[in-house]
Amino acid sequence: MIPAVMPTYGRFDLAFDKGEGAYLFTADGRKYLDFASGIAVTVLGHAHPHLVEALIEQGQKLWHCSNLFEIPAQKRLAERLVANTFADTVFFGNSGAEAVECALKIVRRYHDESGHPERYRVIACTGSFHGRTLATLAAAGNPKYLKGYAPDVEGFDHVAFGNLNELRAAITKETAAILVEPIQGEGGIRAASLDYLRGLRAVADEFGLLLVFDEVQCGMGRSGKLFAHEWAGVAPDVMTVAKGLGGGFPVGACLATERAAAVMTTGSHGSTFGGNPLAMAVGNAVLDVVLADGFLPKVDRIARLLWGRLETLVARYPKVFAELRGAGLLLGLRCVVPNSEVIDKLMAEGLLTVAAGENVIRLLPPLIIDERHVEEAMGILDRVAASYPQ
Ligand SMILES: *Cc1c(COP(=O)(O)O)cnc(C)c1O
Repeated sequence: MIPAVMPTYGRFDLAFDKGEGAYLFTADGRKYLDFASGIAVTVLGHAHPHLVEALIEQGQKLWHCSNLFEIPAQKRLAERLVANTFADTVFFGNSGAEAVECALKIVRRYHDESGHPERYRVIACTGSFHGRTLATLAAAGNPKYLKGYAPDVEGFDHVAFGNLNELRAAITKETAAILVEPIQGEGGIRAASLDYLRGLRAVADEFGLLLVFDEVQCGMGRSGKLFAHEWAGVAPDVMTVAKGLGGGFPVGACLATERAAAVMTTGSHGSTFGGNPLAMAVGNAVLDVVLADGFLPKVDRIARLLWGRLETLVARYPKVFAELRGAGLLLGLRCVVPNSEVIDKLMAEGLLTVAAGENVIRLLPPLIIDERHVEEAMGILDRVAASYPQ
């Protein structure tokens, strides 16, 4: 008999009852150090007092009202995102996939309105992940996730991540945009080189394409800057954000320049829940903390400490770990032994991590961790690594 919850997930036999900072607790009191963060969502850890206060305060006033009306907190969050990024305007949805859908609609409409409806194709990278809707699945082009859902949404071409020559060769008169994750998350924590990101900007400009960065996973401070592409000193035309933006409350956003989004006029796009007062109150509260003086430099400092410790671990256990990769607090340990086995062992020792492609273990701690959390995680990683034959 099919379970009441549609069985689309492979789940661990473990349920949490409570969270506090970087820790999760089961109902029977077992404690876990959470280096999964709900897959890069709980950027401020669990039950952060400032977020709890914002949620409760807004919850007592107004949860929802339609986008038929003004929503002051939505305007405020949009203005703050605009003030702190390349973007001039923001559309709010509820998830990463919706943010990518909005980006795809903007790039098609941009060319359509400029008299080039034939320019509708988007070049994306193999190994990418952009969500589970029909269009975002086609955008990523992962055959494993597309299986059974044919026909695929039309209009996507795929090239190797990091290869500018292949990308240039794939451009045709029908190409509208380039869609890239500055750091591929799901695909195995593969960080683009800064030169590659700069090259993407140059190619987009040369051929009149829009450049879309999907920062759903790598954005919101995880790289040590608010958005990962900032390290390269170049800006996209459109950017998708979600996961960390609500710190655990479902919020997504599509940011764009005025040039790209001028075509998005009244009636061109919409969402019932997108940008509702409750979501916006929490999103603003997340920004209060992440944009506070010294917060991101502290993320960068702790990330460098963790990187150094993990490098030593990888060097010490070459029969367990092959490589450390990623940036900031979006880190990947590529394993020699099966990653799922290591993840199980880490969990048994009280450390939560996430699997990714290419036999990688993702480490996605909340951005609020300090030295003690790093030491605790390293102790567990070392114990688990040492349990393998050396
Ligand atoms: C998770 C993710 C998405 C999809 O987000 P959902 O909220 O699950 O729809 C899109 N892009 C990237 C890079 C992601 O990591």
